[in-house]
Amino acid sequence: MSIAGNLENICRRIEAAALKAGRDPASVRLVAVSKTQDASAVDEAARGGQRLFGENYVQEFVSKAAQVSEPVSWHFIGALQSNKARQIAGMVELVHSVDRLTLAREIDRQWGRLGKTCDVLVQVNIACEATKCGAASDDVLELVRDVAALPHLRVKGLMTMPPFFDDPDGARPYFRELRRLSELVAGERIPNVEMTELSMGMSGDFEVAIAEGATLVRIGSAIFGERELKRSPSP
Ligand SMILES: *Cc1c(COP(=O)(O)O)cnc(C)c1O
Repeated sequence: MSIAGNLENICRRIEAAALKAGRDPASVRLVAVSKTQDASAVDEAARGGQRLFGENYVQEFVSKAAQVSEPVSWHFIGALQSNKARQIAGMVELVHSVDRLTLAREIDRQWGRLGKTCDVLVQVNIACEATKCGAASDDVLELVRDVAALPHLRVKGLMTMPPFFDDPDGARPYFRELRRLSELVAGERIPNVEMTELSMGMSGDFEVAIAEGATLVRIGSAIFGERELKRSPSP
């Protein structure tokens, strides 16, 4: 199947999942995750109608963005080292992966230097997995408050990446918990905080995420194909 064909299929499934949940399909946006794909794959998806892409790695993203010729917009969704925030300043519409105040401060500083404001999501590690990024659920409210106090940041919602399950339904409690946290934060009416986005759901579980309220689904392999694992060259 071509990238355009996969995209069409995914968009249909997103629409069906939204309707089944009694939601407006326009309330769910697709972030096409293009990590490890080259610029030509992004251009191909863009010609297939996709405008929004998500990237994980700073170096790869910066060089790819310079090579893409179609008009696209970008979200940064991966783990971000504070000292690399400078390289992506002003290049992305939304950073999904703010999980600590030191990173937020650096994003604030770098966007501020450009006279811009950065929209961010706070990433939550609901399962407390040691291998994953994200603030602990108990720390989210305080982190949102601290991040929202920075002059060049706006908090737009929360993001999570649940543990992997063979059965997508296994992820449901994590999606539900993210939504509960988001409602809890919204109830605090913190200035500069709008809990409008819930970034959750990937290739294997986005329909469950949509049923639980996702507004941004991050889908890579179901659009671009399985990512190649780095293999050592054959002798
Ligand atoms: C790679 C990645 C995705 C997409 O995963 P697929 O299973 O390929 O759809 C989504 N979110 C994050 C944070 C990722 O790193």
